[in-house]
Amino acid sequence: MATAGEESQTQAGRHQEVGHKSLLQSDALYQYILETSVYPREPEPMKELREITAKHPWNIMTTSADEGQFLNMLLKLINAKNTMEIGVFTGYSLLATALALPDDGKILAMDINRENYELGLPVIQKAGVADKIDFREGPALPILDQLIEDGKQGAFDFIFVDADKDNYLNYHKRLIELVKVGGLIGYDNTLWNGSVVAPPDAPLRKYVRYYRDFVLELNKALAADPRIEICMLPVGDGITLCRRIS
Ligand code: SAH
Ligand code: CA
Repeated sequence: MATAGEESQTQAGRHQEVGHKSLLQSDALYQYILETSVYPREPEPMKELREITAKHPWNIMTTSADEGQFLNMLLKLINAKNTMEIGVFTGYSLLATALALPDDGKILAMDINRENYELGLPVIQKAGVADKIDFREGPALPILDQLIEDGKQGAFDFIFVDADKDNYLNYHKRLIELVKVGGLIGYDNTLWNGSVVAPPDAPLRKYVRYYRDFVLELNKALAADPRIEICMLPVGDGITLCRRIS
C-alpha cells in the first residue's frame, strides 16, 4: 500500500525525479503550499499553459507553479523592464515574466527548440503579452556574444538562466557584463534534484550524474565571485540569485 507521502506524490504527478519536492520536508508540505497559496492565485493563462505542458513528454522540465509565482513577484519588486531568458521550453517562466513586466517591458528569450515555444505561444498571445517577447531560436552562447559585440553591456535588469547546465559558467562570463550593476541573474536548478549532496556511489540517473559536476562547479564559482552578491533559494529545484555589484 502506498503511504500518504507516495500518494500525494502521485497526485502531484510531476517532478518525481528531478524536482523540487525532495527539497522540502515532505510532499504533503509542498502540496500544501501549492493548494493554499499558489493555485488559488495563479493567473488563468498560466494555469492553461501549465495544463498544456503537463501533456508534454518532457513536462518534467517546466518551471513549477510556486517558482513561477516567485519569479512574477521578484520581477515586480525589482521593477524589471528589460529582461532575458535562456531556456524557454513551452514558456511557463516566460509567461510569469511577461505578466510581471510593464507594458513597455521586454524579454529576449532564447531556446534551441522553437516547437515547444510555439505550443505555448497561443496562450501567451491570448494573455496579451506576446509583443513583449523577442524569441530567438538557437543556442544562446553566440547570441550573447553578439549582444556584447553590439554594446549591450549593462542593458538587462533581470536574466533567468534555465537551459544547458554544462554551459552555465560560459553564460556567466557573458551575463555578468550584460546585466546592469544592481541587476539580477537567476540560475535555475542549482540544487539539481538534491544530487549536489549525493555520495559518490549514489544511484543517480545518467543525466543527473552528468550535469551534477557542472552544477557543483557553478555553485563554487558563484560563491567565490566578488562581482556579485548571491542568495541560493530552495524554491523549485534551487535557484541562485546573483546581484551584480561591480
Ligand atoms: N524555463 C522553462 C524550462 C526550460 S527547460 C519553463 O519554464 O518551462 C530547458 C530548455 O533549455 C529546453 O527547452 C532546451 O531546449 C533549452 N536549451 C538547451 N540547450 C540550450 C542552448 N544551448 N541554448 C538555448 N536553449 C537551450
Ligand atoms: Ca528549471
